[in-house]
Amino acid sequence: MSFQNPVFIPGPTNMPEEIRKACYMPTIDHRSAVFGEILNPCLKSVRKVLKSDSAHVFIFPSTGTGGWETALSNTLSPGDKILAARNGMFSHRWIDMCQRHGLDVQIVETPWGHGLPAHRYSEILAADTGHEIKVVLATYNETATGVRSNIAAVRKALDDADHPALLFVDGVSSIASMDFRFDEWGVDIAVTGSQKGFMLPAGLAILGFSDKAMAASNSAKLPRTFFDIRDMEKGYAANAFPYTPPVGLMNGLKLSSELLLEEGMENVFARHNRIAEGVRLAVNAWGLELCAATPDVHSDTVSAIKTPKGFDATDIVTHAANTYGVAFGVGLGEVAGKVFRIGHLGSLTDVMTLSGLATAEMCMADLGLNVQLGSGVAAAQEYYRSNPAVSALQAA
Ligand SMILES: *Cc1c(COP(=O)(O)O)cnc(C)c1O
Repeated sequence: MSFQNPVFIPGPTNMPEEIRKACYMPTIDHRSAVFGEILNPCLKSVRKVLKSDSAHVFIFPSTGTGGWETALSNTLSPGDKILAARNGMFSHRWIDMCQRHGLDVQIVETPWGHGLPAHRYSEILAADTGHEIKVVLATYNETATGVRSNIAAVRKALDDADHPALLFVDGVSSIASMDFRFDEWGVDIAVTGSQKGFMLPAGLAILGFSDKAMAASNSAKLPRTFFDIRDMEKGYAANAFPYTPPVGLMNGLKLSSELLLEEGMENVFARHNRIAEGVRLAVNAWGLELCAATPDVHSDTVSAIKTPKGFDATDIVTHAANTYGVAFGVGLGEVAGKVFRIGHLGSLTDVMTLSGLATAEMCMADLGLNVQLGSGVAAAQEYYRSNPAVSALQAA
C-alpha cells in the first residue's frame, strides 16, 4: 500500500487524478495533425488564462527558469539596460540570469518581505529621459517570502513617465492562481511554468508575448537557439515544434487550462484567497508572523512563516518529512532558517489545507515551540465554515 499525503510546497503542486491521467498517453506522431489537436487548444486556453485577446503564447519544454531565458534572449542585446527590484530569491535569480547574459541591471534593493517599490521605479523611469532602460522586470509573487506585488502600479510608473521600456512579469507562482491581467496591465512578456498553478509536473515553460515584445525579437542580438521564438512560431504555423514536443505534458496542459476556465478564473482566484485566508488566520492563532510585511502584499499562493529567534525553521520542514510524510517549503537565501513556507496553490480543498495546518502544529509542538495543538486548525475551520466554498472543485 502507498499512502500519499498532499504536498504543501509552492510547486510542484498536487496533481488532480484526471490531469495526471491526461499526461499519461500513448505515443503519437508529433508531426501529424493529431498534435495540432493538442497544441492549438493549449495556446488558446492559456491566452484566456492570461486574460489576453492578443498575446502570442509560447510553450517550451523547460521550466520557469527557461521561461526567464526565453524572455531575455529573444528581446535584448548584450549591454542593454534592465530595471529590477530584488526582494527575494526569485527576483534575485532573474537578476543573476540577466547579469550572466551580459545585461546591465539597475537593481533596486528592497527588504525581503516587501513588495516591488513602484514609486522608486517611477522616479528612475522619469529620470531616464534618454530611454536607456529597455526592460522593467517585475516578480508578481515572490515565492521565497510570500509577497505579492502590484503590477498595475508598475505599469502606471511606466505610463506616467511615458517610458517605452517593455514590462516582463514573472508569474510562475501566481498565474492561474492569483488575478493576472496581461492586456489590462500592459504586460509585454508573462512567464510561468507547468508545475504551479497549472497543477502539472514540471517540464513546460509557458509564456505570453505582446506585439511589442514580438517586434523586439527582430532586433535582439543575444544568442538564442533552443528558446528562439521565431523557430517556435514557424513550428506552430505547421502544427508542430522545431523539435520534439513533450506531448503528454501538453495534453495535461490542455486539460488543466480547460478545467481552470470551466471553474472560471474569478472563482479560481477566490478559491485561492479563501484557502490562504484560513492559513493566515492559523498563523495568527499560533502567535507567529508572516514574512510578508503588510496585508496588502499577502500572497494567496504561499505563506512564509517566521519562527521565533534562535529556532531553526528548517527543522519543521525536515521533521514534517521524516515523521509525518508531509512536505512544507524551506526558507531560501536571506530567510533560510528563519521561515518555513506553506504552499497553498493549485489543487487544494479546505480539508486538505486543514490537514497541513494540523501537521504543522504537530511538528511545532514536537520541536518544543509554544503552539497550542488545534489552535490554528480551529481558526481556519471557523473561517471555512463561515465562508463556504463556492466552486465544485473545493467541495470535491
Ligand atoms: C518556481 C519559480 C521560478 C522557477 O521556476 P522553475 O520552474 O523552478 O524553473 C521562478 N519564479 C518564481 C516566482 C517561482 O516561484
